[in-house]
Amino acid sequence: MGQGLSCGTNHEQGLFRAVQLGEFETVEAVLEREPALLHHTTVYDRHSALHIAAANGQIKILSMLLDRSVRPDVLNRQKQTPLMLAAMHGKISCVKRLLEAGANILMFDSLHGRTCLHYAAYYGHDDCLEAILSAAQSSTVAASWGFVRFVNIRDGRGATPLHLAARQRRPECVHILLDKGALVCASTGGYGFPGSTPLHLAARGGSLDCIRELLAWGADRLQRDASGRIPYMVALKHKHGACAALLNPSSAEPLVWPSPLKFISELNQEAKALLEQALMEANKEREKNILKGTVYSLPSPSNSDVGLEDSISEVSDTELCCICFEQVCTIEVQDCGHQMCAQCTLALCCHNKPNPNTACLTPPVCPFCRSTIGRLAVAKMKNYDDTDHDIGDFSSSKLRKSRKSRNFSEGSSSFKGLSSAVGTFGKMGGRSSGRIAAENEWVDKT
Ligand SMILES: [Zn+2]
Ligand SMILES: [Zn+2]
Repeated sequence: MGQGLSCGTNHEQGLFRAVQLGEFETVEAVLEREPALLHHTTVYDRHSALHIAAANGQIKILSMLLDRSVRPDVLNRQKQTPLMLAAMHGKISCVKRLLEAGANILMFDSLHGRTCLHYAAYYGHDDCLEAILSAAQSSTVAASWGFVRFVNIRDGRGATPLHLAARQRRPECVHILLDKGALVCASTGGYGFPGSTPLHLAARGGSLDCIRELLAWGADRLQRDASGRIPYMVALKHKHGACAALLNPSSAEPLVWPSPLKFISELNQEAKALLEQALMEANKEREKNILKGTVYSLPSPSNSDVGLEDSISEVSDTELCCICFEQVCTIEVQDCGHQMCAQCTLALCCHNKPNPNTACLTPPVCPFCRSTIGRLAVAKMKNYDDTDHDIGDFSSSKLRKSRKSRNFSEGSSSFKGLSSAVGTFGKMGGRSSGRIAAENEWVDKT
């Protein structure tokens, strides 16, 4: 097979080459002469012209082929669809065009039983991943299969897209998948059998950022894989020292994206991004302590500290959060309109890691008026100079000066302190940072 290079094969070769190189006119001319070539495939891999266009990002040719009613889900030798190849190579415009043409997102290749979502996650193309997920939300897949089931779809070895993204060091994809409902503790074993979790695979891959994302989402450092190992041991085995330090069960627990936030019906995207950033920054403060004195010390994130100081010195006192007096108010509670900083908002919503056995969570309440927080939005900057607007008794400039003169790198300690401080909010003005820090130690251990 493949030896007899007939005239037809030559035309085929010419067509495939022209598709690959994006020679639109040539492709059109060849197809005018010999329309049947549309259904020919390469000899070995059995790629169709559509596969080749998709893999090479030749959107114009891909569109033309689809317009000539080539089926979007034509398969090659390994049962890969053009959509899988486009997702593999990060050809976002081709991914979108194929989805528009009704490409089936629920096809499995015969290599590892993977879908287009696995491909996007494995190769780290977050734009393709998002396009496929949004198609899944609006397509019949959501209705027939269930969207979350699709997000957690397994390949032939039990790996979900989250497993693959974690293994291949793709923190952006890890983030998107978690946000869309990927199960952080999914085991490749499935059905209750032991297997690797995404955290095991991130430990193996050695990506600190993936590990941070997974831990912030509540990944369990003590879950064991089929060989009985916790992720910490996997990281050690593969000599990822900094990862191992974070995964060490005796290291301080990171803050976890608070599940009460899920009770807030409308978490505005911008507000959410601010809160996520605050969470990650707080965790990085913790990491400094975990990694301090080890050979794995991270370079100090000087730019974020400097940025904070700058922004503080620029804003008027009105905008300082009146819980911590350190950060700018960026989050507004609705409907009451009270404002606080992202870190305080998070701390307010942060409980210890959610216990799956006690799913009795209540929505968080506003620390100022105790009304249930219905929504969180990004606070609008106040332009008027209504200095003591809702700051009340805490507004003496002397107090604020003293707060401002404190070392801003303490941010995370006041952050953690809020959960204990909220109860005694009225006394906040007189607290000493030393006492709060001591309380935090205690809170941590519970
Ligand atoms: Zn604050
Ligand atoms: Zn309020």
